[in-house]
Amino acid sequence: MKEIKHFINGEYVGSESGRTFDDVNPANGEVIAKVHEGGQAEIDRAVAAARAAMNGEWGSMPAARRSELLHKVADGVRERFDEFLEAECLDTGKPRGMACEIDIPRGAANFKVFADLVKNVPTESFHTDTGDGRGALNYVVRKPRGVIGVISPWNLPLLLMTWKVGPALACGNTVVVKPSEETPHTAALLGEVMNAAGIPKGVYNVVHGFGPDSAGEYLTRHADVDGITFTGETRTGTAIMKAAAEGIRNVSFELGGKNAAIVFADADLDKAVEGTMRSAFANCGQVCLGTERVYVERPVFDDFVARLKTGAESLTMGWWQDPGINFGPLVSQEHRRKVLSYYDKAVADGATVVTGGGVPQMRDDLAAGAWVQPTIWTGLPEDSAVIQEEIFGPCCHVAPFDSEEEAIRLANDTPYGLAAALWTENLSRAHRVAPQLDVGLCWVNSWFLRDLRTPFGGSKQSGIGREGGVHGLEFYTELSNVCVKL
Ligand code: NAD
Repeated sequence: MKEIKHFINGEYVGSESGRTFDDVNPANGEVIAKVHEGGQAEIDRAVAAARAAMNGEWGSMPAARRSELLHKVADGVRERFDEFLEAECLDTGKPRGMACEIDIPRGAANFKVFADLVKNVPTESFHTDTGDGRGALNYVVRKPRGVIGVISPWNLPLLLMTWKVGPALACGNTVVVKPSEETPHTAALLGEVMNAAGIPKGVYNVVHGFGPDSAGEYLTRHADVDGITFTGETRTGTAIMKAAAEGIRNVSFELGGKNAAIVFADADLDKAVEGTMRSAFANCGQVCLGTERVYVERPVFDDFVARLKTGAESLTMGWWQDPGINFGPLVSQEHRRKVLSYYDKAVADGATVVTGGGVPQMRDDLAAGAWVQPTIWTGLPEDSAVIQEEIFGPCCHVAPFDSEEEAIRLANDTPYGLAAALWTENLSRAHRVAPQLDVGLCWVNSWFLRDLRTPFGGSKQSGIGREGGVHGLEFYTELSNVCVKL
């Protein structure tokens, strides 16, 4: 049986406690690896290694040299593309096509983009009038924040972890990563790539384990961690924020969503259906930006629902390597229980099940997997938990609306504020409606179209701060103003 160990100070090490947990392939329920479970001892060692690297070669390395090394990391991921692909697909069950197009290429790009960006960040300066004719020069020095704790989720494991590790290292920080217990593989493999690229020991550390009373919590409570960047559930964010309050450590949070799509009657319906198909069902609905609420203008409501149903019923489930599959399992049986509980709630709350609503019949070798049917509902009251709470499964509720104002009100009627998608061919309407949506990201006639230079994050309970482009510098660097009397 394969063992997955921690990566601390450039070496793979087991847990002092000897404790391990199972890494399960959710497509068939098979245990694919034993993962070492980190405790306080491993977190202490990893944070100490990260601090030593910060105080050593890495901390004094010129940005251009750091950037060169991070390019090598990106190249290293690409060279070992197939290994990363297999690791990611076995951990998550996701179809090969999606991981080939999105997860692994973005895992590499996250290093290149930020390595290039930090070389070109201007600094601010002011010539200050001091009233004596000589003045003063104020200028800003940008410094790394220090040791960054990175806590990442399971839905896009490599992509979301490197989305934080890339900018953190590019800005000169060191990191201790606690990947999701469901998907430890690619974070572990990245250690080999870091060593091969010549990244100094201690710059990138990984400790595996769980959240509460385990590696995750110990990392967030560690006094020598200078900032915590986290992607995951809003409830977990609350716990991490409390831990970070001790010692006044900064946080950057990318949290849950309950995202709406608004489809106006003037939309190109083919595009709107295709986009909503992706936003509701891609990655088995396990995308923070995914759409779980669709509001459709009444004249095209029936047509839209019928077409979305046809699309959902044409999705093909199967083993990640099977040709033509585009729909994988949920990440675990535990998550399946949660998603299915919402499928039950929807029926209890009076939904019409347009399609799905249960567990599919899978072939024998996949019967023990965490499969659910792609599901569409109509007819739920807006206060149903199914409409208010994040499900994080392949499902959406479609409701009609009669006016622009009503669509905006419905879309905003949630404690979350991550993303929205607008479908309309009316340019003025698109520009008028988009800024009225309380979200961090709004797509018009598209979904998940990402430019890594743009700010990414959520408003309301969907996050704190923005990462992406220069916006990540707010979290990954500290500013120090120097004032020189002339
Ligand atoms: P989760 O919050 O359960 O876990 C995320 C990580 O936090 C895991 O590594 C987990 O071990 C760790 N953790 C849990 N409790 C902890 C604690 N008390 N202290 C420290 N660490 C702790 O989230 P998940 O189920 O892995 O991921 C799904 C969630 O992530 C969804 O809510 C989804 O919307 C969200 N998400 C958000 C974004 C975004 O960019 N906004 C992107 C992807 C996923």
